[in-house]
Amino acid sequence: MKVIDILKEAKKPLFTFELVPPLKGGNAQTLLETVRSLSIYEPAYINVTNHQAEVVYVERPDGLLERRTVRKRPGTIALSALIQHTFGIPVVAHLICGGMRSEEIEDALLELNFLGVNNVLALRGDPPVGQKRFVPISGGYEYSSEMVSQIARLNQGRYLDESLVGGEKTNFCIGVAGYPEKHAEAANRLSDIEHLKQKVACGAEYIVTQMFFDNAVYYRFVEECRASGIHVPIIPGIKPIGSKRDLATIPQTFHIDFPAELVELLDRANKLSEVKEVGVYWCKKQAKDLIEYGVPGVHFYTLGKAEAVSQVVNAVY
Ligand code: FAD
Repeated sequence: MKVIDILKEAKKPLFTFELVPPLKGGNAQTLLETVRSLSIYEPAYINVTNHQAEVVYVERPDGLLERRTVRKRPGTIALSALIQHTFGIPVVAHLICGGMRSEEIEDALLELNFLGVNNVLALRGDPPVGQKRFVPISGGYEYSSEMVSQIARLNQGRYLDESLVGGEKTNFCIGVAGYPEKHAEAANRLSDIEHLKQKVACGAEYIVTQMFFDNAVYYRFVEECRASGIHVPIIPGIKPIGSKRDLATIPQTFHIDFPAELVELLDRANKLSEVKEVGVYWCKKQAKDLIEYGVPGVHFYTLGKAEAVSQVVNAVY
């Protein structure tokens, strides 16, 4: 079932969550266990992230460094199909422009189509580790809106090879990312929202937000999107804090702020168990307030840790 239809038919706010494929060498079992433990809360759909290759330098026996490209978390397509078919829960496969030529994106879409996964989240991807700026590869895309257009064309049966006529039309529901505190590279919030509007104009049917810890920024973002003419559902994404390290790494990685009250609570927590309690408390508070506000659903970033999310969902839904 398509996410947009699930949203339209929903009688109550949806519970959805995101999973990250295991590092190469890991197995799918752990991921399936996470799904199993959260499936009792009846998730409406599950997202599976996608990770581009990174450049690593390996020291050779002669002391010189060898540059290698390594995909540390492969398997998004296979895992999406595995989870969808094992649990009968729709899966949204993330697709990224980074490191992909448009032909490879088309092939990935066709694989998903053949596997019955017809929900995708179209993303640009971050610059690879060690690189400051995102640079599209030759034959690839600079912005996710270009990928959205490609998927929308495939939905009309228009393949990259224009001589191919009468090809099967795919039936993808396309989601895109939105940033309540603005994307790090955007000049300002309003220009970022203009770019988001373009993604919707190209065919995106709903938006999932970057995580945030202050609901006021989400409410402001929704108002600004509506004022600029974006009328698709905007699903808030939140995450329970799991360690004090998050205080430094989350703002650095995702360019988002922590509210003073949350920082104070975390500062006062000494043991890891206390930090986790604060994380769950704050996430519950956010989720309850969002549901009261009337969001279409709450999307949880699990980062592989189901326990905290399950405590929040158990208390809120
Ligand atoms: P875009 O929409 O392309 O925007 C990127 C920047 O370009 C923005 O600053 C935007 O304002 C600007 N821009 C857009 N269009 C134009 C234009 N026409 N002219 C000028 N500027 C423009 N990353 C992964 O690698 N894998 C994942 O699985 C993944 N999942 C995510 C899920 C969610 C819900 C979110 C919020 C993010 C996710 N990311 C993931 C991170 C994402 O890839 C990065 O945030 C990336 O830097 C931007 O992706 P985007 O699709 O929002 O980019």
